[in-house]
Amino acid sequence: MISPLACPSCDSDDHALVFTSWNGYPIRRCASCKLVFTDDREAPPPETLYPHFEQSDTTASKNVRSALSVFSRQRAAFVERMTPKRSGKPRLLDYGCGSGAFARFMTGRGYDVVGLEPFSLGSPTNEPSLTLLRKPFEDAREELGKFDVITLWHVLEHVKKPAALLSALASHLTEEGVLVISVPNFKSVQSELFKGSWFHLDPPRHLLHFEPETLASTLAKAGLREAGGEPFLPEYGTSGWVQSVLNGVLPHKNFLFELVKDRGALRALSASTTALHAAASVVLGAPVFAAALPVEAALAASNRTAAITVAARRV
Ligand SMILES: [Zn+2]
Repeated sequence: MISPLACPSCDSDDHALVFTSWNGYPIRRCASCKLVFTDDREAPPPETLYPHFEQSDTTASKNVRSALSVFSRQRAAFVERMTPKRSGKPRLLDYGCGSGAFARFMTGRGYDVVGLEPFSLGSPTNEPSLTLLRKPFEDAREELGKFDVITLWHVLEHVKKPAALLSALASHLTEEGVLVISVPNFKSVQSELFKGSWFHLDPPRHLLHFEPETLASTLAKAGLREAGGEPFLPEYGTSGWVQSVLNGVLPHKNFLFELVKDRGALRALSASTTALHAAASVVLGAPVFAAALPVEAALAASNRTAAITVAARRV
């Protein structure tokens, strides 16, 4: 028998179906806190959803990642704008750092960086100004200390009790420190257009589907207030349009995303299937990418881009 379903944020059992995702997960809205969430009761266990892997680091994947460093620069520009001014190197915690690419990038920007990741994506390094910790937050807290900036790049939508996590993270901020939070925008034009097959919906890994209002109420619940925002980060806008369109026509979902991530998800595909998807992704993806940039830029004014990115301080 399946267990009763409660809102993962506020525990209310009063919620209604919005739609069902392409892979069969009900997406529901809580009547109490208004947050949209995935009914994940039939989801595979975390070790299946977040498999441990080593990046293969072929020349091709290195080149792709190097080309994508433009996205790290755009994230960095917002982080630098929001970092409190003080003498010495600012300390940054990248919470849910994945491969550690952004954490490593920020050491080049003069930050002393800790990347924390509960799921292994490669080996910890011993580079100057960079510590990558492969452990759950609770196990790392004693050694973390205080930070000027804590970033959560598309992390908060993966967790239950988001306000509790933000509040715990905020206790690791310096007096003037900021949390930088970026999540997919359920109220984006992409989301409304592609609905259950929207790339950034990603159920069941994405448990929560924030809108500007529900992210603001989650911040308030955590004792935080918004201190700034960046409505246009092209990496989420363009990837959302390109991959959502490709998912509509190609049999293997999220091919391009997995190709870039290089975490082994495509190894099961035959050479001909891979070649077909790669060719179609380039032929169809390139014009969509080109069109997506001005579209997302135009949507920024009304907060209807693919992602919501805000900085928050303690009240
Ligand atoms: Zn709720």
